[in-house]
Amino acid sequence: MATTTTRSTKKRTSNATSRAVLRDVEPGSSVDCVHCGERVKFQAKVRNKQVICNVYVKGSWARVEHFHDGCYDQAGGPHGAVDTTPVIKARQRQAASS
Ligand SMILES: [Zn+2]
Repeated sequence: MATTTTRSTKKRTSNATSRAVLRDVEPGSSVDCVHCGERVKFQAKVRNKQVICNVYVKGSWARVEHFHDGCYDQAGGPHGAVDTTPVIKARQRQAASS
């Protein structure tokens, strides 16, 4: 009989891959940097930046990781290049293309 190798016919949810964006640290932030383990703190005088990564494993969302701006580079940019587009501009760009 025909032996059909049934490869996983599971629909791929998406081709989403991990991505990293640069954002301001918000007041009341209570996340720890994945790289150094220190709290990613909001400081009024220093406008700290953080790198937020949406991590996808095999096309589906797995978790969010936070890094200090500098730590992400130190970690070797594990989730690809950081998107530094400000949120507002990114939205405008989306609106323009739709
Ligand atoms: Zn850090």
